[in-house]
Amino acid sequence: MSGPDFPFLFPFQSSPAAALADMTRIDRDALAGFRALAGRMDGNGPRYTSYPTADRFHADFPEAAYLAALDDCAAAAPAPLSLYLHIPFCDNICYYCGCNKIITRDHGRSSQYVDYLVREMALVARRLGASGAGTKRAVMQSHWGGGTPTFLDPSEMQRVMAALDKHFKLLPEGEHAIEIDPRTVDDARMVLLRNLGFNRISLGVQDFHPEVQQAIHRVQPFAQTRDAIFAARRLGFRSVSMDLIYGLPHQTTDRFQETLDRVLMLMPNRISVYSYAHLPHIFKPQRRIDTAALPAPAEKLDILVSTIERLTAEGYVYIGMDHFALPDDDLALAQRDGRLQRNFQGYATHAGYDQLGFGVSSIGSVAGRYVQNARTLDDYYAALDANRLPVSRGFEMSADDHLRKTVIGELMCNGTLDIPQIEARFDIDFADTFRTELNDLDTLATDGLLHRHPTHITITPLGRLLVRRIAMVFDRYLREAEPVPLRYSRVV
Ligand code: SF4
Repeated sequence: MSGPDFPFLFPFQSSPAAALADMTRIDRDALAGFRALAGRMDGNGPRYTSYPTADRFHADFPEAAYLAALDDCAAAAPAPLSLYLHIPFCDNICYYCGCNKIITRDHGRSSQYVDYLVREMALVARRLGASGAGTKRAVMQSHWGGGTPTFLDPSEMQRVMAALDKHFKLLPEGEHAIEIDPRTVDDARMVLLRNLGFNRISLGVQDFHPEVQQAIHRVQPFAQTRDAIFAARRLGFRSVSMDLIYGLPHQTTDRFQETLDRVLMLMPNRISVYSYAHLPHIFKPQRRIDTAALPAPAEKLDILVSTIERLTAEGYVYIGMDHFALPDDDLALAQRDGRLQRNFQGYATHAGYDQLGFGVSSIGSVAGRYVQNARTLDDYYAALDANRLPVSRGFEMSADDHLRKTVIGELMCNGTLDIPQIEARFDIDFADTFRTELNDLDTLATDGLLHRHPTHITITPLGRLLVRRIAMVFDRYLREAEPVPLRYSRVV
């Protein structure tokens, strides 16, 4: 694999293990390089929470295909499972929102929804042959997302959890997370969540500045967030995650630093800092955002760079893309040990399991198939009324998809690719299979995003900041849709 097919572009400066250790460091040089390259960026890249990405899923995926996937999953017992439950309701609209949600003050709607959620769980568990005592499948990871899961009242939450307990065995050593809106929880609700078995919470904050909060229609006083986090710590939740967004109206670099001051007072175990994408032609609520108040691209880039500088200076580990974690957090430990993976929730420590999705629009990954449920309540309810699983789209992965998913995952999570290991696992000649991709990597290597070596590809600290662009090189569907541009994708 040497010679012209695999040119030796850079001296291999460190072992793969040292390169991995390097990944925790985002230094000044990397940030300076990032600033310089950002000017040439010209499009958005996928986040690769799945490969192929969800836009490749298709409607020609009948219920029978999902049933077959569940049969294969049943045959894989007793491997543990991962579960995702989608609760679509919210009391108020946040103008920046691009999620699949239903805004309503009518809490009667969630009671009906829970009825259907419970029915869906029963159907899936029955197919898995996993409803009875002794046959229940273990669950290592569960996640309630939305929408706003805490829109459900306490009795509705208890009903959902009782159904989960009836059909599955939620392992106490597993990760059981729920997204909470601090505006919808008080101390009593936090106690309930802990008693129900959740050990992780994720809070949406976005920005603490009052003018920004008003402009996005999400007024959430600091004290509410602080109280929820303090309650979580008191009650023994293992981890608190906080979501922020940069690029929102009226944000400036200085103002966002004030938000970070407050975030750092609370020291969440994990912080996600997402880029706001203003796409009012796709997301209607965004039409209520004043475009003139959005930070200019140079300011937005400044906010991002100063945020990375600040969080890493304060001791957070840069996990990748938009994620940071304290050094003793499971994500940071998994990355240090080369165990980090990706799933629909982003970076994860337990992503190798089949994931069952429950609820409207939820996505699962079962025995090599991606499965997405109906996106409207009417369709979701109609399928379950007919005793059918409410699948609406899906995708059956090919051997090539599995290979590329592994390559993308290794690069995004662990920053290095062990070529002989990939060749042995997938029975391929890497240079032959990825001839075009390797040529594209050369371009990225000359810009300092990665190093190539006959047996390894390693991503540099600069490359970590642009890792989506590196991953895109291996995305066959993107390449077939249009030639992959040799430059960069916009991250700001
Ligand atoms: S951002 Fe979250 S809470 Fe706000 S409308 Fe969207 S899903 Fe609901």
